[in-house]
Amino acid sequence: MIYLDNAATTKTAPEVVEAMLPYFTEYYGNAGSIYGLGSRSKKVIINAKEVIAETLGTDANEIYITAGGTESDNWALKAVYEAYQDKGRHIITTKIEHHAVLHTCEYLEKRGAQVTYLNVDENGVVDVEQLKKAIRPDTILISVMYANNEIGTLQPIREIGEIAAEHGVLFHTDAVQAYGQIPINVSECHIDLLSASGHKFNGPKGVGFLYINRKVRMHSFVHGGRQERGRRAGTENIPAIAGLAAAVKRAFHIMGEKTKKEIELRDYLITRIEQEISHIRLNGHRTKRLPGNVNFSFEAVESESALIMLDMQGICASGGSACTTGSLDPSHVLLAIGLSPELARASIRLTLSEDNTKEEIDIVVEELAKIVAKLRGMREDR
Ligand SMILES: *Cc1c(COP(=O)(O)O)cnc(C)c1O
Repeated sequence: MIYLDNAATTKTAPEVVEAMLPYFTEYYGNAGSIYGLGSRSKKVIINAKEVIAETLGTDANEIYITAGGTESDNWALKAVYEAYQDKGRHIITTKIEHHAVLHTCEYLEKRGAQVTYLNVDENGVVDVEQLKKAIRPDTILISVMYANNEIGTLQPIREIGEIAAEHGVLFHTDAVQAYGQIPINVSECHIDLLSASGHKFNGPKGVGFLYINRKVRMHSFVHGGRQERGRRAGTENIPAIAGLAAAVKRAFHIMGEKTKKEIELRDYLITRIEQEISHIRLNGHRTKRLPGNVNFSFEAVESESALIMLDMQGICASGGSACTTGSLDPSHVLLAIGLSPELARASIRLTLSEDNTKEEIDIVVEELAKIVAKLRGMREDR
């Protein structure tokens, strides 16, 4: 098998699994208990927050453990909206956010929020001038993703953060694709809230965190016990939190080498596809993109068919459409960068990890060229 879908999820690293196991079998205490077994669990949480805080240049008290990226995004948007209604009900985001942000915004609109969805250019970069113009006296939050999950485009996060700070507006970033892949400094970028998810950087699924700057006013998100400083109740998932901490340590330890290798492979893959296959379009920015992200549209190729044929060759990749209620909706991200619905449905995303090799890339390009030729041929036959 050749796995090229690391933006969807990653393999849990062996050392992460190793770090989790004792907390299922031996140290299973409730972190809220008074006895030693409980305090051992409590230490796991404290340690994880310290490890995470160090990577962001923040305080451990500003890290809240969640059940992953989706929950972190929901929490950031809903809780800020609720706590800042005295200031206003206006939120600014972009047309290319993950559905965890977009669908939360739609939900908030039903509850009285006014949401501005910023355009992006043909590479998927947010227009900073448009952002400045969109800010109003009643704007309470700007939410712009750090890096896009489909096309890998990196946003000018620092500039956006500076604009938000100048206008006294809170700034949230969905950094689920960026955290653990590239260095992030929240104070330099004036980030007030940041979402991340363990399974996107070789950690376990169903665990992540939300960074909340201490100046952010916020009520409880989940009501119940006093866990997470009373803001997110529920007995903590200690094995997952131990795994998250191990994944963070690992990711930041290997980051330099991993980035170098992935950029090399990424650019090799892009060049080879451009050499071997005609009538294609690279989606996303050529350089301002995640180290492991490649996304191409292949004219006159239904990506669904191509993905099935790739799968038959043992290659895992994903496409530019989401199957919702049985019909294929072209990706909102690809439409936002100006692709026609047809070209959006003809897109394939290949996302790398440090485990991939040049030999694998060669096989993938060869198979892809065959598949594209075959599907285009079939189309002409009709
Ligand atoms: C994967 C992803 C999410 C959702 O994270 P989960 O942990 O799977 O809930 C949110 N935003 C982006 C950009 C993502 O890539």
